[in-house]
Amino acid sequence: MIHYKTEEEVAIIKESAEILGRAHGEVAKHVKEGVKTSFLDKVAEEYIRDHDGVPSFKGYNGFPSSLCISVNEVVVHGFPGEYVLKDGDIISIDCGVFHQGFHSDCAYTYPVGEVSPSVVALLKATKKSLYLGIEKAVFNNRIGDIGNAIQKFVEAKGYTVVRELVGHGLGRNLHESPEVPNYGKKGSGALLKEGMVIAIEPMVNLGTRNVVQERDGWTIRTADRKPSAHYEHTVAIFKDRTEVLTTHEYIEEHVKI
Ligand code: MG
Ligand code: MG
Repeated sequence: MIHYKTEEEVAIIKESAEILGRAHGEVAKHVKEGVKTSFLDKVAEEYIRDHDGVPSFKGYNGFPSSLCISVNEVVVHGFPGEYVLKDGDIISIDCGVFHQGFHSDCAYTYPVGEVSPSVVALLKATKKSLYLGIEKAVFNNRIGDIGNAIQKFVEAKGYTVVRELVGHGLGRNLHESPEVPNYGKKGSGALLKEGMVIAIEPMVNLGTRNVVQERDGWTIRTADRKPSAHYEHTVAIFKDRTEVLTTHEYIEEHVKI
C-alpha cells in the first residue's frame, strides 16, 4: 500500500531533509585521506541529534550506525569502523534523518584524493543518472520510466545497474511502497500520483552488476570487487511539479567533482 502525503507532511519531510543535508555537509568536511570511517559516523550522529533529529538507520533492523559507509567495491550498507581512508578510494555515504515523525534519505559518493579517471567517470555518470531519473519522476509517469532512464544512460556508458537493491517510498517509515528499481521498462509499474514521496538511488558498478552479501549480514559488495557508486535523493511528486526534498548542496561545497 502506498501512503500518499499531504503538502503539510511533505513540508515536514523537507525540514528533515534540510537537517540531513547539513549533516552530510558536516561529514563532507572530514572526507579525506587518513580519516577513520567511524569518525564520520560520529560527526553525523552528533549533528543530527543536536538539530532535532534522530539518525534513521541506527537500530533499523539492528543496523549499528548512523551512516552506511561503503568504500570502493562495497555497494551499500557498509559499517563505519576502523577503516582509514586512503588516497584513491571512493566512499559512499548514505544517511537518513527522522524528524517530527518523518524520514528523509540521501546518499553521495566521494573521491578521496586522486582517484583514477575511469572511476571519476563512474561517479559522474552515476550522479547524472540520478538526475535523469528524477526528470522522469513526474505526475502521471510510471515507476518504470525512472529506472529506464537511469539504466539506459549508464549502460550506454558500459556500466551496470545493481538489481538486488532499489529505491523506495518513504515517510513515516524509512522504507515504504513502492519499490523504485534503477532499471526497467518505460510505461511499466505504479503510476506516479500526487503526494508520493520516493527515494531514487542508482547503484552503478564499473564491472559486473552481480553483488554478494558479506557474512555480517549487511555489507553488499560487487562480485568482481570492482568499484560501485551510489547517489540518492528523496523527492515528492505533485500534479504541477516534482520537488527534490534532499540536497547535496552542502556536500558539494567540499567536493571537487
Ligand atoms: Mg539511503
Ligand atoms: Mg534509500
